[in-house]
Amino acid sequence: MKVKFLGTGGAFDFDAGNSSIWIEINNKKFLLDCGHTVYPALRKHNLIDDLDYILISHFHDDHVGSLCTTILHHTFFLHKPKKTKIIFPDESFKYNLNKFLSFGLGNVDEFVDFIPISETPEVKAINTFGLHVENMQSYGFIFEDENEIVAISGDLGDPEIIFSCVSRHSKKKLRIFHEMSFEHTDGVHSYYKDLFFFLDDYEIYGYHVNPEQVPADNQVPLVADHPEYLL
Ligand SMILES: [Zn+2]
Ligand SMILES: [Zn+2]
Repeated sequence: MKVKFLGTGGAFDFDAGNSSIWIEINNKKFLLDCGHTVYPALRKHNLIDDLDYILISHFHDDHVGSLCTTILHHTFFLHKPKKTKIIFPDESFKYNLNKFLSFGLGNVDEFVDFIPISETPEVKAINTFGLHVENMQSYGFIFEDENEIVAISGDLGDPEIIFSCVSRHSKKKLRIFHEMSFEHTDGVHSYYKDLFFFLDDYEIYGYHVNPEQVPADNQVPLVADHPEYLL
């Protein structure tokens, strides 16, 4: 499985880029989240033609800000125009995706094929409703092939749910990419010190932070410090 971040920053850390991840598994290419810095990054790395599926964790702008542009690119700028395949974890999220996209695209069905997550057995959603922002839909995701498991938290103020959803007892290699914050954020993000507890038992990489503001006592390895996870 290939895991490459297009950006590792929080909502306001534009130098680090919006947190967004390119995952290749079983010859399928997934993009998880498409914030406002993501379309330029896809263009820069020549990835936009290769993209098979988009997944969205939630509707904050740093996760959907260039989604419409990316979809329109597939229709108007590809050598072979194609509809963008967006995976949805449940009907209510699909309804909201459609509503959100209709403001930028008009007739969404002209541009987008919505694919139920059950059609991509490599990926499963973790419902984190209300655990990032009260009453807001949000999802983490687990990618699994025959050798390894990769869990990605999405924006998430609960530092425990992802760990409760993955099995440590599987013989497969397990990596967890967890969002975090260096500030106390009243449950909107996971406080970095609350992840320390899990470091003995799990291979964890932190993201959605400004790598220039790392506190001296941070113990969570950062995606931004691991070139193997960066494009
Ligand atoms: Zn975010
Ligand atoms: Zn968010």
